[in-house]
Formats: sequence, structure tokens, C-alpha cells
Amino acid sequence: MVDIEKLTKVLKLEAQDGYQNRKVMRGLEAFITNWVNLSLKANPSPTEARLIEMVADRLTDYGMLLSPARAQAIQAVLEAPAFVLKGVGGRGSEKSAELKVTSNELKANSSQPSAVSRQPSATSSKSTPNIPPQSSVLSPQPSPVDLSAPIISVKGVGEAYARLLEFIEVRTIGDALYYFPFRHEDFSSFHKITELIWGRVESVLAQVVDKTSTRTRNGKEIIEVILSDETGQMRAIFFNSKMVYSLKPGAQVVMSGRVERYQNNSICFKTPQFELADHELLHTGRLVPIYHLAGPLKQQALRRLIKSVVDRYAGSLPEHLPADIMQRNSLDGLAYSVKNLHFPPDISAKERARRRLAFDEFFLIQLGVLSKRHEWQDERPSIPFRPDPGLMDGWYKTLPFELTEDQRGSVYSILADISHEKPMRRLVQGDVGSGKTVVAATALLAVIAQGFQGVMMAPTQILAEQHFKGLSRIFAKFAESESAQVRQLTPRLALLSGSVKKKDKEATYAKILAGEVDIVIGTTAIIQEGVEFNKLGLVITDEQHRFGVVQRSTLRDKANITNPHVLTMTATPIPRSLSLTIYGDLDISLIKTMPPGRKPIKTKMVHPDERDKAYDFIRKQIAKGYQAFVICPLVEESEKIEAKAAIDEHARLQADVFPDLKLALLHGRMKPSEKDQIMLAFRDKQHDILVATSVIEVGIDIPNASIILIEGADRFGLAQLHQFRGRVGRGEAQSYCLLLPGDDLSEAGQQRLQIIEQSNDGFYLAEQDLKMRGPGEFFGTRQSGVPDLRVAGLGDTDLLELARTEASQLFARDPDLLGYPLIAKKVSQLWSTEGDLS
Ligand code: ADP
Ligand code: MG
Repeated sequence: MVDIEKLTKVLKLEAQDGYQNRKVMRGLEAFITNWVNLSLKANPSPTEARLIEMVADRLTDYGMLLSPARAQAIQAVLEAPAFVLKGVGGRGSEKSAELKVTSNELKANSSQPSAVSRQPSATSSKSTPNIPPQSSVLSPQPSPVDLSAPIISVKGVGEAYARLLEFIEVRTIGDALYYFPFRHEDFSSFHKITELIWGRVESVLAQVVDKTSTRTRNGKEIIEVILSDETGQMRAIFFNSKMVYSLKPGAQVVMSGRVERYQNNSICFKTPQFELADHELLHTGRLVPIYHLAGPLKQQALRRLIKSVVDRYAGSLPEHLPADIMQRNSLDGLAYSVKNLHFPPDISAKERARRRLAFDEFFLIQLGVLSKRHEWQDERPSIPFRPDPGLMDGWYKTLPFELTEDQRGSVYSILADISHEKPMRRLVQGDVGSGKTVVAATALLAVIAQGFQGVMMAPTQILAEQHFKGLSRIFAKFAESESAQVRQLTPRLALLSGSVKKKDKEATYAKILAGEVDIVIGTTAIIQEGVEFNKLGLVITDEQHRFGVVQRSTLRDKANITNPHVLTMTATPIPRSLSLTIYGDLDISLIKTMPPGRKPIKTKMVHPDERDKAYDFIRKQIAKGYQAFVICPLVEESEKIEAKAAIDEHARLQADVFPDLKLALLHGRMKPSEKDQIMLAFRDKQHDILVATSVIEVGIDIPNASIILIEGADRFGLAQLHQFRGRVGRGEAQSYCLLLPGDDLSEAGQQRLQIIEQSNDGFYLAEQDLKMRGPGEFFGTRQSGVPDLRVAGLGDTDLLELARTEASQLFARDPDLLGYPLIAKKVSQLWSTEGDLS
């Protein structure tokens, strides 16, 4: 008999003792090893075998765990999901009987061939949409279930396991259903032992005939399992794997893995996946889902949990898409697709499932975007601004250059937008240096010409000051204009930022309220209490993706009487598919061409052996009076470690490489005010070199900087590298960007660096980046206000277009989604947690 009571007793004792591992002589792990061995000999039922496996897996290295991990391991075993640990507490037999019923039901209902019969899986219909009546695909009891019920309400999930699931933010049944695998391991190819193909990933159904264990000199355990079927025998080799303890001679197992060579030309598996063949296969012999893990979660246990949740609850997912939309777009049913995205019978089923669920994401995002736009535009009217053409001509004449074609296009669209009562919502996207400021200035001018105010908000003090100076310089020409109309208009600017003294600030507030200031430029200080506008007509935000969403809507509310027009500018080139998802509620203008006469930055990859040459080159640039940036490698673990590395690098460069130069340091653990101080000092040429982590990214303008060296360049994405590179090349001088890869340069990394060496086109690079890395990493950080795409990829442009079309048709028919309560609920759920994009 497998003595579960004894196990429970010892584990509880250990827990009571505070997990100090002193209750059992020679340590708890000794007890566990012994218990596992005894239990295996006791002819365990499949359920018990799974328990043994879990115990072996979690507790055999107990002595080596730190105490929080000890507590977790013990709690997990004590409160393990019912399908693993039904026997605990002495009422074992009754409960495991119940469990067996369930697993039989699963078998009966599953489209997956059981291991034992293992027919080749039926190729499911590929071309026609499969929208089966719910009951045929669904799990045993399709009773309505509250999907927002906490995960702990799932049978078998105890408090401890629920806590582990927190690590992956699975808190409800619905969360678990939507916790999709990021890939599948294809273990679906079965062969007889002698027919296994060397080098391929294959599965085999066989009997364990022998098991031997040896130890290497440094104490590693090697376990060899001999498998046999009617065609022959083979080995499976495991290293330090406690899981294998549960395998015993006589057992029918399925093993899956890559077929490798074993010494004298025979074949073997090395550390294959395996499971007993007496139940529906979960970890082997099929398309096996692989989930992202976090904390102490383990793949197999999580997979088992999700399987049971999918089997029990996927069927309760109500279909929200109207049948005609599903038909037109060949989409499968929701419940069926959720099930198949986790546990597909074959690749094509998985693809169809992915397509359906990706469609859902795009569709719901588009509906959200449309209804936001609808709300916003219906809210309150804006003031139409129609500046006198003569005035605008006079203004263009004051500029020291001609607008580029793209600048003209943007200006034209903006002026058209603001001539309506319908509020403008426009995004101007243009690479660093493409000349967005003058476009913004033109819009501001049109508004103040009519006696209204404008505001321009930047994410940092230094950027705000930069805009203040830039706009002051542009508008200074007004006083010299030939046109009296223009001369009269000379805008009154005010700067509001952290550096402005309190007394001056209050004076500025008063002027803004009295309408004695036309354009307010500043940081988030603008939206702090106390700033009241007289007549706010236009809000411009620069580098908007740096802002929290809340800040943007607060600013909008400042214009209490009317609804201001809103113009957003970003220097992050965003591929169309991404901007449609993120900014789908905005109209978009692109500035793709650079003003003429710009010297393209020379970009070069430097071999790590040539680091000294790179330093010499920097030194020469500094000798010519220029300044340099050195970007430290990306450290993914934490900002703290990254800051530490930057501190060390700064110290090293200062002491060993550039002892005679002035080096400054900038990293993410500094306060915003500290960062601003350092950037200002660097701009004022108090330092020769700025050593920085990726926090440097924001559109800072230091025309005197002519060279940037990027360490660990292969670890950054293209878009980010391009942003870094944009820190230089802003002045007259020829500028340089040196890329230093890390020592372990991968092929993909090398490819990225070659792409960036060859192209200065931000949009092209953004497209490439998105292709290579996907949206999550695109910005380096998670976007505020953008719903996550879990299933859809931004490469799915065709599907995105289908979803857009359907969304706008549905929206046109029923903007409040009154006839589609399920969809309405989903849209509001999606967006409520993510905030307000506008
Ligand atoms: P960004 O898009 O990065 O904000 P800026 O507006 O700061 O770019 O413009 C970068 C530089 O290019 C400025 O010095 C600006 O005066 C200059 N510039 C802008 N438009 C033109 C143009 N059409 N022709 C020549 N120079 C221009
Ligand atoms: Mg700018």
C-alpha cells in the first residue's frame, strides 16, 4: 500500500517545525527517497503513481531548497490538485475512484487517440469552418460556470497552488482558459522501436524491462531505462532525474524526444519526456503545449491543471461572435478553439484555433478603439480654427527653410482637422530630426491666431526646455516679419517645469488663467492642480508613449469649456499593423523624409577585440571638441543590477580608459530630477562622455555629441538601437555610431547589427524589428494603455484587416453594442484594465 498518511504526517510535522529540516534523521530528503522507493514497490494505481512522481519531483532535493521554496514544495504536495493527490487524508480510495471516472470520461470524449490504440490522428477538415454544436466538442458537463470564479474553486487547487498561479497571474478559471501555451512540442509522430528515425523527434509506446542507476565521479546519477516493444529494444538515459523513480519494470510507457545515437550505432533517448500509457496522454505522444512558467511553477503540473480546467470549463465559454461573422471569415467556435489552442489534435487544428482567437483580439481591440473615438468625438465640440491664409503664408516666410513634402502633408492634415468642430485626434510620426517641431508650431499658431491657447507637453524637463528654446527661436523671427499681421501675433510663451521657482510658477499660473500667455510648454507640472487655462484650444504631447495614460486625459479635461484638439507626436516609428492596434483611434501622419542636407550617421560594427580602437576614436572626436555617449549593455534581470553594471563601467572607463576626461553617469535608479540635472550638465558641456543605460532613449537633443558607442549592441532591438543612434547626428558634424556586440554574438544578433549598419530608415527598421522580435519587446517596455496581444501577432496584417472591417461594420450597425451584450462586456473588460488611450 502506498502510505499517504505517513507522508502527510511527516510533511505536516515539518511544516509545523518551520521547514527547518531537522525532524527527520538524515534529512527529509532521505525519508522522501525511501518513501518513493517503497511506494513504487507497492504496486501504485495510476493516480498514486502521479502522486509519487510529484513527491519525487518536488521533495527529493528538499535539503537544498531555501525555506520559502521548502514551504512551497511541501504546501504544494499537501494541497496538490485533486487529480494528483486525491488520496491524502485517508479517504483515498473513494476519491480516487471518482478521479478514475473523470479520466475515463476524458478518454471517451477526447479527439486525441489514446496511446494504446494510437491510430494516426484524423486529419480534421481544413477548409470548411468547423462550428460544431457545442455539446459534441465540449467537456463532460457543460453546465454554466462562472468563469470569473477564483481558480481555487477548481477542484483540487488548494491555497498553496493558487498562490503559485499568482506568479503567472492566473487567478480565475477564465484566466487559466486564456493562459495559452507559447508553443507546442510536436511529439505526435509514433514509431516502433526499430522504425524510429535517428535525429527526429519521435514517440514510442513500449514496456520498461529494466532500470539501472550509476553515479559519475562527481556524484551525478545516471539512470538507464531499457524499453522494449515487439520490434526491439532501446535505451532511455536520464541524468539526475528524480522523475524516473516512478518508472518500474513492467510499466507501459510512452516516451517522446529526439532520437539520438548510442555508442555502438544503436539508438537512444536522452532525457525524454515520458508518462504511463494507461491514461490519456498529456506530456508525450501528441502536440504538447509548453507554457511560460514563473516562480516555482513546474511545466507538467501546470499542464495538468490547465488540461483539467479546459476539459471541465472550456465548454462553458459562451460564443460571443455572431454566426455570420464566423461564417464569412471561416472562424471556428470559441470553446472549440480555446480547447484546441491548448491541446490540439494536430497542427492544422492548432492553426485554426490560433486564427480564431487572434481574430477575437483584433476585433475587440478595434471595437474598443472605435467606441473610444466615438465617445471622444461626441463628447463636446471643439472650436473650429480657420487661420487666415495670408497669415500662414507670412509665417512660412519667416522660416529659414522650406518645409519638406511630408511636413507640408502633415500641416495640411492638421489644419484641415482643426477647421472642424469635431475634435482632432492626430498622431504625427516622424523619426528624430525629421522636423516635427515646426509642424507643431504651425498648429499652435493657427490656434493662437484666433485668441486661444495651446499647450505642449514633454515627458521630461530637459525635453520641455528644449521645446521652449526651439519654439522661442522659431517664433523670434516674427518680430522681423514683413507682415504686420504676423508681427502682431508674436506668441507669448511660458515654461512650466520642475526647475521653475514656486513664486515664478504662481505668477505664470495667473497669466495663463488671465489669457496673457499663449503657449504653455512644460512637463507634467502642467497638469498639476492650480493650472487653469483661459481658453485652451490645442493640446500637443510629444513622445506620448512615455506618458501615463491618466496624465493625458487629465490634461484634456483642463479645457473645461470646450474640447481641445489633440495632436500627438512620436519619434518612434511604428509599423502600420502596430499603429492600427495601438493608435487605431487616431488619424496618422507620417514624416518619412528627412530635411535636406543631413549627413547620415556612419554606423559600424566593431569586433570586441577592437574595443581599444573604438576608445581611441572616441578620444579623437573629443579632442575635436565633440562629446560622446557610451551605452551600457542591457541587463534583463533587474534595473538594479543594470544600474550596478553601469556604475562599474563608468568607474572603469574613468579610471582606466579616460582618466583625463570628464565622465558622467546616467541610470534608471536615479530620480527623474537627478537624471535631468545630469543631462543638462552634459548639454552644457560640463562632461565629455556620458555613460548611460537604456534610460537615455528619450528624444534628447545634444547637437555637440558626435559619437555613440553601444556596448552589448546585439542584445538590443533594432528600434531601440535606432533610437540610441538618434542621440547623435543632430548637429553639423559627421556623426558616428559604433556597435560593440557581446562575446556570445548569436546569428540573429549579428543579423540585426548588419541591418542597422546598413539602414538609417526608422520605419524600415521598425518593421524588421517587429518581424524579428514581436510586439512585446518592440518598445523595450510594456506600453501603457495598450491591451496585450496574447495570440495575435502583428505580422497578421490580413487577419487584422478582416477584423477591422467586421468591427467597423458591426459598429456602424450598433455603436453601443446593444444587440451584442457579450461582445460589449468583453470590450469593456479588455479596455477597463488597460486604461484610457486618448
Ligand atoms: P524632431 O522631429 O526630432 O522633433 P526637429 O523638429 O527638432 O526634429 O528638427 C530637427 C532639425 O531640423 C531642427 O534643427 C530644425 O530646425 C531642422 N529642420 C526642420 N525642418 C526642416 C526643413 N524642412 N529643412 C531644413 N531643416 C529643417
Ligand atoms: Mg522633437
